[in-house]
Amino acid sequence: MRCELRTLQLTEPFRIAHGTSTERTVLRLSHDGVIAEAPFVPYYAESPEAALAAVRELRDPFDSLPADTPRAARLAHDVLKHLLLARSAALPLWQHLHFPNPNGRLVVRSLGIPSDLVAFRQRVADTARQFHVLKLKLGSGDVAYDLDIVRVAREAAPDATLIADANGGWSAEQAVDLIPRLAALGLTMIEQPVTHREGLAPWMALKAGLPTPPIPVFADESVQTSDDVPMIAPFIQGISVKLLKCATIGEALTTIRLGRELGKQVLLSCMIESSHGITVAAHLAGLADYIDLDGHLYLANDPGGGITFDADGRLHL
Ligand SMILES: [Mg+2]
Repeated sequence: MRCELRTLQLTEPFRIAHGTSTERTVLRLSHDGVIAEAPFVPYYAESPEAALAAVRELRDPFDSLPADTPRAARLAHDVLKHLLLARSAALPLWQHLHFPNPNGRLVVRSLGIPSDLVAFRQRVADTARQFHVLKLKLGSGDVAYDLDIVRVAREAAPDATLIADANGGWSAEQAVDLIPRLAALGLTMIEQPVTHREGLAPWMALKAGLPTPPIPVFADESVQTSDDVPMIAPFIQGISVKLLKCATIGEALTTIRLGRELGKQVLLSCMIESSHGITVAAHLAGLADYIDLDGHLYLANDPGGGITFDADGRLHL
């Protein structure tokens, strides 16, 4: 088994409420022609070198890793095992795991917080020609600007479904004020309006101020694994599930199932990562309501392969 760290360059800086990125490191494992990758994200502050050292201890891809191994290493290792088993069975991963067929599902295209609304208007119009669901990153630090972002996007893409992600960039008070105004502008879903860093308190304040939100409210950073779902459930209508958060495909499935049992919508999402990682996540797309898997489109040096999007913004594996 070959283990290496690779650096992926972004085509341009990507800004969200947490900060701006220009490159990403991924851990790549390869064995017998099968490649598995998992990204490191600034948000988790995991050591790529520690992750690499952990997987280098493995003598065989099917050996187990200690539970305290960095999640990128656990994910790359878990994915490698699943891909090897699916290949042995001569089946696509989704079929091997008995997931619904993901082919043909509409995908979401995300747009970072813009620095120039004139250029943004054009970018939204261009993007909407292929993608019919657009996710706007909000939480710019200026609520009037956040409203402008949605207003401009609505004008530039009148037929697109608009959803947004504040990445915890609003106070509960701001969220109570903004969510109805954004809904009136045509937004149809809001992800992580309030911070995950203060436990349930901001969610409780949001629910107290807006007991019946006009659009579904999703939790992303506040739901890392299935353990977090029951506590956050009373405050939200949907959850964002990412393979890296869960660290294994099995845990992602458990999180989705628990969310469904509690009546929640599911957004399947990703980090900025190469198409190797995105393709694996796409095998779960048949389980989700929103498929937010475009992290590879931000890369200047994506290795390609696997997932493609057709002219109508639908995914194919
Ligand atoms: Mg998010």
